[in-house]
Amino acid sequence: MERAWKNVRSSIQKELGNDIFNNWIVALDYQQFDSGQLTFNVPSSFIANWVETNYGDLIIGLFKKEGWNVTALVFEYKDLISGKDVIKQTDKKNSNSKSDSSVTGLLTNSDIQLPSSPLDKRFTFERFVVGKPNELAHAAARRVAEGGAVTFNPLFLYGGVGLGKTHLMHAIAWQTQNRNPDARMLYLSAEQFMYRFVQALRFKDMHGFKELFRSVDILMVDDVQFIAGKESTQDEFFHTFNALVDHGKQIVISGDRAPGEIDGLEDRIKSRLAWGLVVDLHPTDYELRLGILQSKVEVQSKLHPGIYIDPGILEFLAHRISSNVRVLEGSLTRLYAYASLVGRKVDIDMAQECLADILRISERKVTIDEIIRKVSDHYNLRMSDMISARRSRIIARPRQVAMFLAKTLTSKSLPEIGRRFGGRDHTTVIHAVKKIEDLKHKDLQIAEEVEILRRMLEA
Ligand code: ADP
Ligand code: MG
Repeated sequence: MERAWKNVRSSIQKELGNDIFNNWIVALDYQQFDSGQLTFNVPSSFIANWVETNYGDLIIGLFKKEGWNVTALVFEYKDLISGKDVIKQTDKKNSNSKSDSSVTGLLTNSDIQLPSSPLDKRFTFERFVVGKPNELAHAAARRVAEGGAVTFNPLFLYGGVGLGKTHLMHAIAWQTQNRNPDARMLYLSAEQFMYRFVQALRFKDMHGFKELFRSVDILMVDDVQFIAGKESTQDEFFHTFNALVDHGKQIVISGDRAPGEIDGLEDRIKSRLAWGLVVDLHPTDYELRLGILQSKVEVQSKLHPGIYIDPGILEFLAHRISSNVRVLEGSLTRLYAYASLVGRKVDIDMAQECLADILRISERKVTIDEIIRKVSDHYNLRMSDMISARRSRIIARPRQVAMFLAKTLTSKSLPEIGRRFGGRDHTTVIHAVKKIEDLKHKDLQIAEEVEILRRMLEA
């Protein structure tokens, strides 16, 4: 009998291919053959069900060819929740011959309601600002959204909090929906995936669960790191994943880090996730942050027609709030609220006051000393010139640049900055900041110098 099983296995491998073989058949552990009943030990009820409905008849047929009259398949497995051993026997009366269609046929019951999570209207490709740090992820997401042949499966997007993973997934969903309103698309967080799985177990509706997840054309699971360490959910996820990939359905997954680096995620899942295209969203750079702010201001200014936010403020925010776009957006929203309350044009001082807490957290460790040193180097001056009382233009302009940088790159107060520049009054600092802000718009060379210095200081 064991010899026959070996032959049957290789026939299945030939007939259905390596993927199906490795995913389903390898898991079958032959136990015994007794009065027509062939018993396998399997890792889970899911595998038992799947093999039984999809390959049961095929297996029995192949055994017949080998000269063994197998009348029923029996599966033994441990129940994932209760930990009890379960024995499940195929019910021959109901075993409708599915093995033919199953090779190609994923359940495509379009009556099944998809419990997709709501999509954010603002998270579209049109509103996604592309820059160096996210261009690859954006291009990959676009490609998936265009449909067509599934070239990379899964698409795995990863990156830190607030870098646009969810935004890109929703954008894929929106575009897919526009392109094909009938596309069966399911977007949900890994947490919801687990919730549904647990519900299905509790209400003994694993069948419905599986049917649901296997009926989609495109499955998107957000924040997959959530299922790290949750074994049976991972198990189920793995099988869902395999079933969809086997049928050429697109999968998009996001995580907070690369698959290989998610602790508590099974190796087989890590390697499966790494099969497709893995792209990361890098932390934002200054240009991207500025671009994002500008695009948000464009939207906001329609909602708040009376409020004007100076471009200099956006530059200031882009400098000072690094990496997380969500915080960047939040600060802008707060500025608008603040501006509508005070009813004036927002200037840097107001911005600093209104966003003090956010700025403190994102503060870069640039010191005034460093600024003075770098600026005097740049203009070939001595550091002592910077803090001297001399007012010749050759020194005064660089000094103003240094004060401007001190104001925008550190959270030191105006009086404190004045003190550090040779005991000057805070009004002198205000004047310097205004002057440079103004010059940056009029004088390209100054703008460039300030930019170069800023980069050096922040590097
Ligand atoms: P993640 O899922 O990576 O934590 P989100 O996709 O939720 O981050 O993004 C956080 C916020 O930042 C959202 O409001 C999103 O619209 C915005 N955002 C992120 N990246 C961009 C971008 N490149 N262009 C426009 N908005 C962005
Ligand atoms: Mg997210």
